[in-house]
Amino acid sequence: MKICRQLGISYKRFLGWMPSRGDEVEWDETERNWMRALAEYERSLCPMCGLPRTICQDPKGELTLHAETSVCWATAHMQQAMKRWTDANGRDNPAANALVAHLT
Ligand SMILES: [Zn+2]
Repeated sequence: MKICRQLGISYKRFLGWMPSRGDEVEWDETERNWMRALAEYERSLCPMCGLPRTICQDPKGELTLHAETSVCWATAHMQQAMKRWTDANGRDNPAANALVAHLT
């Protein structure tokens, strides 16, 4: 459903629907309800961790939820590459805010 919103098309169009006689309306009540349901679902998620707020923001979570850390080495290397660039070219360089790192 998210991909439909990103593409700006209805779910039924995503599935191949095309306007036809007697079925000309793309954004019918069903399609609008799909999008409303998606928006409601997304509002129920925590912006920090992506879990349902009812789970991660429940006071019991302090004792029942556990986490581990790991390193995304791709991100670490890309950030190092961008730091090398700003060290060499200056943090005030206008291009410093438009750096794009690539894995090689
Ligand atoms: Zn959360």
